Amino acid sequence: MKKYDVAIIGAGVTGTSLLYVLSKYTNIKNLVLLEKYKEIAAVNSQRNNNSQTLHFGDIETNYNREKAAKVKEAAEMVAKYVETVGKEEGLHYQRHKMVLAVGEEEVTALEKRFEEIKDIFPKLKKISKEEIAKLEPNTVKGRNPEEKLLALCTEDGYAIDFGKLSESFVKHAQKSGKTVDVFMHKKIKEIQKNKKGYKIISEGKTVEASAVVVCAGSHSLILAQQLGYGTELGLLPVAGSFYIGKNMLNGKVYTMQLKKLPFAAIHGDPDVKNPAETRFGPTAKVLPLLERHRYTTIPDFIRTSVFTIDGILSLLKILADPTYFRFVLKNFSYDLPFIGKRIFLKDVQKIVPSATAKDIHLGKGIGGIRPQIVDTKTKTMNMGEAKIVGEKIIFNITPSPGASVCLKNAENDARKVVEFLGKRSKFDEQKLKEALGSKASGAQK
Ligand SMILES: Cc1cc2nc3c(=O)[nH]c(=O)nc-3n(C[C@H](O)[C@H](O)[C@H](O)COP(=O)(O)OP(=O)(O)OC[C@H]3O[C@@H](n4cnc5c(N)ncnc54)[C@H](O)[C@@H]3O)c2cc1C
Repeated sequence: MKKYDVAIIGAGVTGTSLLYVLSKYTNIKNLVLLEKYKEIAAVNSQRNNNSQTLHFGDIETNYNREKAAKVKEAAEMVAKYVETVGKEEGLHYQRHKMVLAVGEEEVTALEKRFEEIKDIFPKLKKISKEEIAKLEPNTVKGRNPEEKLLALCTEDGYAIDFGKLSESFVKHAQKSGKTVDVFMHKKIKEIQKNKKGYKIISEGKTVEASAVVVCAGSHSLILAQQLGYGTELGLLPVAGSFYIGKNMLNGKVYTMQLKKLPFAAIHGDPDVKNPAETRFGPTAKVLPLLERHRYTTIPDFIRTSVFTIDGILSLLKILADPTYFRFVLKNFSYDLPFIGKRIFLKDVQKIVPSATAKDIHLGKGIGGIRPQIVDTKTKTMNMGEAKIVGEKIIFNITPSPGASVCLKNAENDARKVVEFLGKRSKFDEQKLKEALGSKASGAQK
């Protein structure tokens, strides 16, 4: 049985970014990445399954100032990576990005928001209806001329193919000169603690590692609970679908977000691979699945502690909140045949007033699941980071905007992993900062 210094479970953007950071910026010699599917990034990091937005915190009106600054620093690392290391690989495109306020109340709130964050985002501009019309004619065409409109806009809107980004991380890790083994189609069944670290058991392959980082999305919680960690946590899987139109927008247009909700507001933007395709979404529908369109993950959902008395009481308490209840009900209706599209159209028309039901269709087989963490002790939804740190093991559950903060998360995990491995291990944080640190980035300065 081969023994590694570090094993990473899950080849989405979280696991692969950590593989990259450990291989390039630490002296750790042996790394292994284990993934249950045949392809890298087959779940939430896959291009079709997320919103492809590099979130900086500038147009996300539900982030407070502190969160916006934190997300900005993290996103700048990804921006720097796609503009340098991954420059030739077609990982992204850069266009304008804006948040649109519609009507008196939203305009006042957005004015206030601008004053709160303008020093963090010097490139963010407040633009009038006339300027909005120049960038995004369809957001103004057909709109009631009396309706007030304001936007905060930046030229630095990054659309990222997080699946390709994950592939790029693996490719460059394998060029690092270290031992970087990647085993695909290896579903981890169990992780066993032993004297020197962990035994990781998958179908047809067992390896040992001194330290383990589990980056398996929702499944990280199941693997954590098997080892006795995170037993007070449950999951509320929130599925996101997208409606598709043709050539309706030139850049990313977000709407104002509800402060209480952890989910991104509905937005419209051109697809990163096929910009003629305009995507509207994501919706937010609660489903008993851990992976979208994979019904074999229903038993996995049942295994999370949400199916204990405390778990069920937590879900009932969360859904009893009128804001959540209305939100869940409205979002559930979006996927209904025939009327779903017509109900969703109202949200699309907030962005493109002249859109009709004929202009959009529900994207089939696309969209992911956001694993929203529920604390079954406090019976509340956890809005923050979903990370469990155990004895020489870390579990990442990564709700949105997990992909935007992947390199920062990898930096934090690398620090911890080096600590796990003891004095012989070193992490050259300065070198990482020089290569991908926010100060070096051309983005959002
Ligand atoms: C609708 C939607 C829109 C989003 N939009 C954005 C956005 O615009 N910007 C942004 O930053 N974030 C966005 N997110 C969040 C983002 O997609 C995720 O945070 C990110 O992709 C998580 O990456 P990950 O590697 O942690 O998980 P995943 O990409 O899901 O990868 C987990 C991997 O672990 C593997 N795995 C699971 N179980 C096992 C096992 N037992 N053994 C081996 N392997 C296993 C899976 O096969 C998978 O490859 C969005 C999410 C959704 C659902």
